[in-house]
Amino acid sequence: MTDRFTGSFTQQEPIPDEAIAAAVAVMRHGRLHRYNLAPGEAGEVTALERDFAAFTGVRYCLAVASGGYALACALRALQVEPGEAVLTNAFTLAPVPGAIASLGARPVFVETTEALTIDLAHLERRIEETDARVLMLSHMRGHLCDMPALMALCDGAGVAVIEDCAHTMGADWAGLPSGRHGVIGCYSTQTYKHINSGEGGLIVTDDAELAARAVLLSGSYMHFDRHGAAPPAEAFARLLGEVPNVSGRMDNLRAAILRPQLARLPEQVARWNGLYRVIEAGLAGVPGLALIARPPEEGFVGSSFQFRLPDWPAPRIEAFLARCAARGVELKWFGAARPQGFTSRYAHWTWADPDPLPRTDRVLAGLIDMRLPLTFSEEDCALIARIIRAEAGAI
Ligand SMILES: *Cc1c(COP(=O)(O)O)cnc(C)c1O
Repeated sequence: MTDRFTGSFTQQEPIPDEAIAAAVAVMRHGRLHRYNLAPGEAGEVTALERDFAAFTGVRYCLAVASGGYALACALRALQVEPGEAVLTNAFTLAPVPGAIASLGARPVFVETTEALTIDLAHLERRIEETDARVLMLSHMRGHLCDMPALMALCDGAGVAVIEDCAHTMGADWAGLPSGRHGVIGCYSTQTYKHINSGEGGLIVTDDAELAARAVLLSGSYMHFDRHGAAPPAEAFARLLGEVPNVSGRMDNLRAAILRPQLARLPEQVARWNGLYRVIEAGLAGVPGLALIARPPEEGFVGSSFQFRLPDWPAPRIEAFLARCAARGVELKWFGAARPQGFTSRYAHWTWADPDPLPRTDRVLAGLIDMRLPLTFSEEDCALIARIIRAEAGAI
């Protein structure tokens, strides 16, 4: 009757053997730095950039040290100035406003809908209020907004869109990969994302000048000609004295373990979505529990699952979470008074002096979140859903 789940919500799969072999090969030859190459050798980082450019269908790709570095590098490439307002989602992870703050710029948060995406009407008002020229759009927990509507609004207002694709590597809107709607797409290859190198990031763009700026920013010295998915030398010529080196390269060891993982990402996405659909079906129709609708245009990656407990008083949510935890189901709550683990919300980022956002507050007050690592089976997910279902109904 009272089944217990015994899996770990934070245990990812091991690194595949092929990736381990590639990493060992790099360690055996010792050329870990991306520009430390034998004659005729492209190196693993350059190969990864080519692979990822092909995967997303983009012209230019740069691998960097982390997802947060990718975001800050994108802002620098767009020449965001200290004090400048940069718009971003109120529902996002702390490194996103942190990347904005790292340039001395000012994050201005935009409201969140019940679908967990950016509120386009509020975005329009924020653009008018702030005259911002950059939106850092965070596809938080993999939820994509109506991308054509967002791009029409931003293009019309002259706002450049940087996409934070930390949770949408492998996702698309109506077939166009996430990261290719805006002017720059940024990804993370940190352990909890879709491919795992511990830390790491990727930047994609079709804009030759932005790509050249990003390469120089990342610390290319005079080796920008050793890239495989960067613009031609002409794009760099007039930028050389102008762009500072804000070192944040990726190394061959990490790139070596990412390439085999990227090759099998489509398979992994199918597995994630299988897990996601089991949880979704298992939680359908629970009174008082709202599922997040997924639009048909959204090709998502179900690497995490969210649901809402709208209008539940905080003590009732706390009791529900405690009962689930007692049965091994570790849920995160975006409405908690204090930040816990990786989970904080915009109102906790007091350094950014955020305005209150009533719609976001209402959504996050009842928002529950869990990871779905690929070490879970569909049977595990069915059990997790049964436990949540029983405890949500147990008042
Ligand atoms: C993880 C994450 C980042 C930052 O990536 P790191 O590689 O950890 O720096 C940015 N945005 C979101 C939404 C994330 O979850």
